[in-house]
Amino acid sequence: MDNCIFCKIIKRDIPSYKVYEDEIVYAFLDITQVTKGHTLIIPKEHVTDIFEINDTLAGQVFARVPKIARAIEKAFPDIQGLNIVNNNRELAYQSVFHSHIHLIPRFSVEDDFDITFGNNMEKYNQTMMNEIAGKISAEV
Ligand code: AMP
Ligand code: ZN
Repeated sequence: MDNCIFCKIIKRDIPSYKVYEDEIVYAFLDITQVTKGHTLIIPKEHVTDIFEINDTLAGQVFARVPKIARAIEKAFPDIQGLNIVNNNRELAYQSVFHSHIHLIPRFSVEDDFDITFGNNMEKYNQTMMNEIAGKISAEV
């Protein structure tokens, strides 16, 4: 797609630090390196986000994640963990609208990655939880 920075990276119109490539995906270092080894995996086909990707492509892309995760682990034996992040749409912090999966190795609690989940358990009773689950399951 024209004007997509990640499509340009795949086509080599823009340079990148390639980690892995095959017929389905291209993987490269995220320029911000939230932590050392921070890698992005992108489908070669331009898809905007999780709402657009089809089941086959989603399966093919995610099937590549474990081997790249293991490669990062082998490259950096001091790794303590790895967060997998996929942002969808602007509100959810997506800034490049070509779907991508972040692999963010974790080295210590003081590294630069931060994600916090609120806990709203006390605001939802059983009826509300059933209603929410029912609404979603009716659409699957
Ligand atoms: P997101 O905010 O989830 O959409 O992630 C987009 C990511 O793409 C950000 O973490 C950026 O640092 C990264 N990024 C943007 N342009 C480039 C580039 N030319 N090379 C490598 N990473 C990039
Ligand atoms: Zn694209």
